[in-house]
Amino acid sequence: MENSEEQSRTKILDTFKHIVDSNRKFVLTTHVNPDGDGLGSELALTRYLKKLGKQSVVLNHSETPSNHTFLDYHNELKQFDPEKDSQTVLDADVLIALDMNNPGRLRSIEKYFLESKAKKVIIDHHLEAQDFVDHQLIDLDSPATAEMVYRCLAAYDSNLIDKEIAEGIYTGIMTDTGSFRFPRTDGEVHRITANLLDLGVDPFYIYHNLYEENSLGRTRLLGEMLSKVELAYDGRVSYVAITLEQLNRNGVVPDDVDNFVNQAGAIAGVIVTLFFLEMEDGVKISFRSKGDVPVNELAKMYGGGGHKNASGARLPGVKLDETVRRVLADAERILPK
Ligand code: AMP
Repeated sequence: MENSEEQSRTKILDTFKHIVDSNRKFVLTTHVNPDGDGLGSELALTRYLKKLGKQSVVLNHSETPSNHTFLDYHNELKQFDPEKDSQTVLDADVLIALDMNNPGRLRSIEKYFLESKAKKVIIDHHLEAQDFVDHQLIDLDSPATAEMVYRCLAAYDSNLIDKEIAEGIYTGIMTDTGSFRFPRTDGEVHRITANLLDLGVDPFYIYHNLYEENSLGRTRLLGEMLSKVELAYDGRVSYVAITLEQLNRNGVVPDDVDNFVNQAGAIAGVIVTLFFLEMEDGVKISFRSKGDVPVNELAKMYGGGGHKNASGARLPGVKLDETVRRVLADAERILPK
């Protein structure tokens, strides 16, 4: 087990090359409630592996969120069905989990992933990886898993990266950098992005499909949420909750509210934002911070994780109001004194 979060980038590229060269059947997956980085990374990698003549299948626990389906024009993103697909997982030579580091986030695939005799790999950029695979390809400095995938593919053979592969990578980098504005957006990110644009990626097309094709219900729900945002701790923390009733009344599914947390935090003086989403089976929390405030420490207290400035947690079987009170009280621990 290669258990080092400090692996050099060269080591990651070497390991990737070795795994690809010495295997034939690949299964790729990502976390529950997948985002643009997980899905874009999967699409880029599966398309590349197929170009190399490998067998590659993408199996996800979750259905692809509707605003990402435009990327999947070859129907490569499959929702895992244990009856039909468990053997594929068990028979694979290599299982690659992208953009995740905790087997619990595989949900229905977890059992088969862990049981499989395949070589297991994660490609990820999140903190606090759990020890469940043979090769942890982790780069904590990378702004997106898709950027790591780009590096791996470019090092293997950059000539094989075409427009369809570039679209997946671009989507991952764009979404995980908050459209090129989060702190890890450096010159290198823009240089990689320039290469992707040169391959034919259309930034307007990707952004428009992801963020500007919302339902009326989502837009109205955003308005409802914005009118309910509260401040605490002298205006340093903003918080807001969305109930199941609000989701249902507006005909909105949980995936549709992914970026609401950022809107709730766009307030002068706010350094921490807490966004609570009531689910059928509990509460999902999104944590965001600005500067040197480690929201991942707060997320960890609730069994979640992520990055210093963006983390999440899912709390099964809890009540919304009580959860808001508890997390808000605990937020004091991460605020600067
Ligand atoms: P979200 O608030 O769901 O957009 O998540 C923000 C970040 O935290 C993303 O990078 C997620 O991958 C990560 N994250 C979200 N939920 C969890 C969880 N339950 N456990 C670990 N990491 C999470």
